[in-house]
Amino acid sequence: MKIIWQQKDHPFKREIEMIFDLFKTETDQLLFEEKAEEEAYLVNIDEQYGKDFVLVKGEVIKNQQATSYTYERSVSMNLTEEEKRKVAKQAVKHLWLKILEDITGEKQDWGILTGIRPTKLYHQLLQEMTMDQVDQFLEKEYLLRPNKIALLREIVQRQLKVIPDLYEINQEVSLYIGIPFCPTKCAYCTFPAYSIKGRNGTVDGFLKGLHLEIEKIGKWLKESSRKVTTIYFGGGTPTSIEAEQLDQIFAQLNQWIDLADLREITVEAGRPDTITLDKINVLNKWKVDRISINPQTFTQETLDLIGRHHTVEETIEKFHLARKMKIDNINMDLIIGLPGERTEQLQYSLDQLTNLQPESITVHTMAFKRASYLTKNKAEYDIIDKDEIRKMMDLASRWAREHHYHPYYLYRQKNMLGNLENVGYALENRESIYNILIMEEKQTIIGLGCGAVSKLIPPNSNIVIRFPNPKEPKVYIETIETQIDLKIEKLNEIFQVVA
Ligand code: SF4
Repeated sequence: MKIIWQQKDHPFKREIEMIFDLFKTETDQLLFEEKAEEEAYLVNIDEQYGKDFVLVKGEVIKNQQATSYTYERSVSMNLTEEEKRKVAKQAVKHLWLKILEDITGEKQDWGILTGIRPTKLYHQLLQEMTMDQVDQFLEKEYLLRPNKIALLREIVQRQLKVIPDLYEINQEVSLYIGIPFCPTKCAYCTFPAYSIKGRNGTVDGFLKGLHLEIEKIGKWLKESSRKVTTIYFGGGTPTSIEAEQLDQIFAQLNQWIDLADLREITVEAGRPDTITLDKINVLNKWKVDRISINPQTFTQETLDLIGRHHTVEETIEKFHLARKMKIDNINMDLIIGLPGERTEQLQYSLDQLTNLQPESITVHTMAFKRASYLTKNKAEYDIIDKDEIRKMMDLASRWAREHHYHPYYLYRQKNMLGNLENVGYALENRESIYNILIMEEKQTIIGLGCGAVSKLIPPNSNIVIRFPNPKEPKVYIETIETQIDLKIEKLNEIFQVVA
């Protein structure tokens, strides 16, 4: 498909491209040019502003046959010009999606919803509407299809059950601790993850910085009488470091931070090749509530292909070890659409999960993030098409429900195969509180450690200020003292907003 958008400098060019990306295949083209070409679709869309409406008119010409489209949105008479422009932008996206659906015959389940977390939007709308009204609004204004609306509603209801005070929890904070090391780097990875081999000097230096961050943030928390809701260890793979080093981090946390009101501690032990008896003992000693052991797939050839240098047997063995050591809340991540994988491999992975029975499962859709090795070398890999990945997602979702897992958080990323989503499922009462908090952005999350991004949220606002720590261990070590002071300054600012 070749489309020529004949208004060369259209003000909503970026949005027009984003909607086109939902449909395009490798060979499809969208050009912004005034010229005409016989075999191309020629598109023109104009906006007209009235006192209380925005009208968008479109025309598509192919082989000298023209088709017309119109879409009108009524608006309040009091809107400023800027606000009207925003409505017009939505209206253009709306009409453009309809045009592309007609041209391709393909329907987009998520409609024109791009660039905002669907559940976050749902929560926002819920502040002023009933759930039924939110559902109607999403269908009418964003063209979401009923299956996705029902999914969002179910997730939002579940989240409010897990955290009944979700809308009032904004005076507390959660902590994210980033440990930037992994045994090896996976091909699809864009996280701050550095191979741990031969870098022990750096690990020691990094830990020194992290201990200092914990101490200083601990003092700030005490001075401002702020409670901590959850702590989450991510990275990298936190269990890449030695048991003793892990133990020292927990000791430091307990020394400087009042954890009396803590609702949950999670430690990602994603790579099974990092899990040892000693490390599980440390996790138990400090009463860690949840861990993650991430198979991603149970097909060995795929693991080898994507550079996860561990075996399927190791995943199963470490899962049983954790169970034997009384870890009773284990999450497992799967990725759908890994190179070479089809329904058969997914079914096999699901069968393994049926045997293991983890408490929660996160189903990711393969995303081609710009910086990953896999994306840069996409031509080398066997990648699945949109239709098949959608079938696989349906299979995973059906399997989850049949096995009593319910969806409790969801997010979408750019460049996901099939324009799908990532969904976290859990058994009753086994949901991760942190996962809900980080997704819905209802409280400040203070990031400590390498590559950790603090999300600073002034209470009772929809503002999110990102404050990233350096990604590279070397830079982190060199600059951490200044970084901590800056972060505390920002924290004081956002919490003063409400004072
Ligand atoms: S285990 Fe996770 S963090 Fe580590 S390299 Fe692989 S994808 Fe990245």
